[in-house]
Amino acid sequence: MKKIIIAIDGPSGSGKSTTAREVAKKLNYLYIDTGAMYRAVTLAWIKSGNEFSNETICEIIKNIKIELKITDEGQKTFLNGSDVSFDIRKPDVTKWVSPVSAIDCVRTAMVEMQRNIGKDGGIVMDGRDIGTVVFPNADLKIFLVASIEERAKRRQKELSQSGIHLSFEEVMAQLETRDIYDSSRANSPLKKAADAILLDTSSLTIEEQTDKVVNLALKIINQ
Ligand code: C5P
Repeated sequence: MKKIIIAIDGPSGSGKSTTAREVAKKLNYLYIDTGAMYRAVTLAWIKSGNEFSNETICEIIKNIKIELKITDEGQKTFLNGSDVSFDIRKPDVTKWVSPVSAIDCVRTAMVEMQRNIGKDGGIVMDGRDIGTVVFPNADLKIFLVASIEERAKRRQKELSQSGIHLSFEEVMAQLETRDIYDSSRANSPLKKAADAILLDTSSLTIEEQTDKVVNLALKIINQ
């Protein structure tokens, strides 16, 4: 069976990771959450205790090892050999991840890793620039959107499940700040690729959005 590349982009809370994970499961593909990689870089910088500057972060990037391991519980993120899957979801990382991700050397390093991981196909990769920059020739590109209220609701639930309790207003404000940062940065801003299929998940269930993507993928795989 043909092993295609599926790119799923969209803003935070649009349902990317859940959809991508479920689609990968159904197709028996590898799922890669690229946001986790940018979060790991951000955590490495926070742990270093250095002031925020492009130079410092570019230096850190040269000396860290980020690995993604697929386990029965899903993707685990390792920084210099330690499992940081929980720490990369902490509020401090979320607060700083967008400014860190806007730095050119960070993007160059992460994009290179992502291209390597996905080069043989059979992959569902989610992020902000997968269809525009990482795999501009991806076989299937999906751009997910959802209302800000729905996204904040989902994010708040996700956070509370991992023991992080924030008010609805706080989560919404964080999402809005990240949306602005991610869509207005000079390097690889969050935007829909011209040939991406727009899917509004505001009133879709996880099953519905997964089925839509799987059906689109199967059409390409079987053609
Ligand atoms: O997907 P997640 O919300 O975990 O991503 C965290 C941050 O990482 C985003 O807000 C964005 O700044 C950055 N990111 C990116 N490019 C990607 C994936 C994530 O810039 N492909």
